[in-house]
Amino acid sequence: MFSGSTSSNIGSSLKFVPRSDPPVSKKARTSPVWQYFQHFDLSYHPEKKCFRICLICRVNGIDKAVSVGQSASPGPLISHLRTHKAEYLEYVEKKNSLDAAASAATVSNQLSISSFCPNTSNSKELFRKKFAQWVVEQSMPLSVGESPAFISMIKAANKTLFVPDYKSTTQLLYSKKVSTIGKLRKFLEGKYYSITCDHWTSAAHENYGALTLYLIDNFVLKTFVLSCVKHSNGTNAPEVEAQLVVDLHS
Ligand SMILES: [Zn+2]
Repeated sequence: MFSGSTSSNIGSSLKFVPRSDPPVSKKARTSPVWQYFQHFDLSYHPEKKCFRICLICRVNGIDKAVSVGQSASPGPLISHLRTHKAEYLEYVEKKNSLDAAASAATVSNQLSISSFCPNTSNSKELFRKKFAQWVVEQSMPLSVGESPAFISMIKAANKTLFVPDYKSTTQLLYSKKVSTIGKLRKFLEGKYYSITCDHWTSAAHENYGALTLYLIDNFVLKTFVLSCVKHSNGTNAPEVEAQLVVDLHS
């Protein structure tokens, strides 16, 4: 309300340069007193960081700076506002109606005590998912959750967490696989793609075969590894063919 009248006085005897944004800051929501004051423009008044300009004094042609301290406390502003009777009454009315609205909101939105406790079933499920994701991304053994040292480390962080064992992680990853296959099938409907079959031997002399699907979707090359299998004791053409046939149908 005073933001418009502040600029109209510039050019008079006033020397204070207020910041150009409206005086309504975040704090204005908690105390309506802030809307009667404005920050200093610190490029003109670098030493006035902890002061505010009284906009009512300003309208009356007076430069009045009120110190709010490091914590930007509204107390000194309220004290100064008392010197402006009409505005002070207006502020008290606003404050009272805000307080009434806030207490009404508190009653209607009051949360039950249980909402302040962490939702254990949710955090357990989230941990299970994040754990499985970590196992996959770091190529950890699926049984890593059964390691006593690992379990004691997790329990040190949160006693209530259950560390997924081999079976639990496998089940979760299998259900992920099934849902991903469904999504991929849907995505591929009516599209053209190519599938390559690669076979290689690792530095440890182990044989792997992989099926990779490529397609261009909206001018972006997309790659999906459909299958990656370790062929123990070497491999031959029928084995790779079987992988191709079996994994393409799964
Ligand atoms: Zn004033």
